[in-house]
Amino acid sequence: MKITLLGTGSPLPDPNRAGPSTLVTTGAHNIVVDCGRACVMRLVGAGVMPPFVNLVLLTHLHSDHICDLNDLVTTRWITTPAPMASALKVVGPVGTRQVVEGMLAMLALDEQYRLEHHEDLRTAGGMKIDVIELVAGDTHQHDDVVIKAFRTDHRPVEPTLGYRIEHEGKAAALAGDTIPCPELDDLCQNADVYIQTVLRPDLVANLAALIPANAGRLTDILDYHSTVEQAGDTAARNGVKHLVLTHYVPTMQPGTEDEWRAIAAAKFSGPITLGPDLTSVEI
Ligand SMILES: [Zn+2]
Ligand SMILES: [Zn+2]
Repeated sequence: MKITLLGTGSPLPDPNRAGPSTLVTTGAHNIVVDCGRACVMRLVGAGVMPPFVNLVLLTHLHSDHICDLNDLVTTRWITTPAPMASALKVVGPVGTRQVVEGMLAMLALDEQYRLEHHEDLRTAGGMKIDVIELVAGDTHQHDDVVIKAFRTDHRPVEPTLGYRIEHEGKAAALAGDTIPCPELDDLCQNADVYIQTVLRPDLVANLAALIPANAGRLTDILDYHSTVEQAGDTAARNGVKHLVLTHYVPTMQPGTEDEWRAIAAAKFSGPITLGPDLTSVEI
């Protein structure tokens, strides 16, 4: 199994980091977990063209995690040869259907233009999405890949899910945005790799001081994300083999990677991976 960080950014725009999105490659399958800003650009950077994605997992429905789902859906649709056309499976928490229906309504004119223009697209049919809403405790089987959904704690955002992806005896835990909680421990238990979105309260406080007009909004985010330290703690407590940090809030400035890593390493003695978009780990 290979994990590639497609986007390591956050809602705060950064010219060098796409929004939150992670590619999990398991033999025949390319699974995209969350679809943040520019995820399709990075997907192609990882060597995967959109027709070769057949499963999307959404951890939650915050805009930074879903804003380029429409790009993946349209680009996949218009670049897939008619004989290969298939529905894109989108798995997420309750609410995913509402998001997908709204997105398809937004794309309806584009779909109509292209269907009218391209005879072979009419043969293949319109945009097709199979939405599967999961609740915590559900298991979803995707061919030879097992996906287990766990509750996470990103309140007031509810419901939110973390996914444990199991394939050929390996397990990857993708936590999404969450603070530590017992269900997160279950999700990560003895995982070969644990991918956590993280925040640095010290840097958020600095940013809030620099932009007093947005200070309230910035400090609001402190209470629903794992800190780098908490991610290290969660990894250590649950026997995780490899910790991967992503979704750096605020953005991780070039040259500060070791500083971020050291904070997690104070809690977790195993390997810790972080870095630019397209950083990858094989398990
Ligand atoms: Zn979020
Ligand atoms: Zn987020």
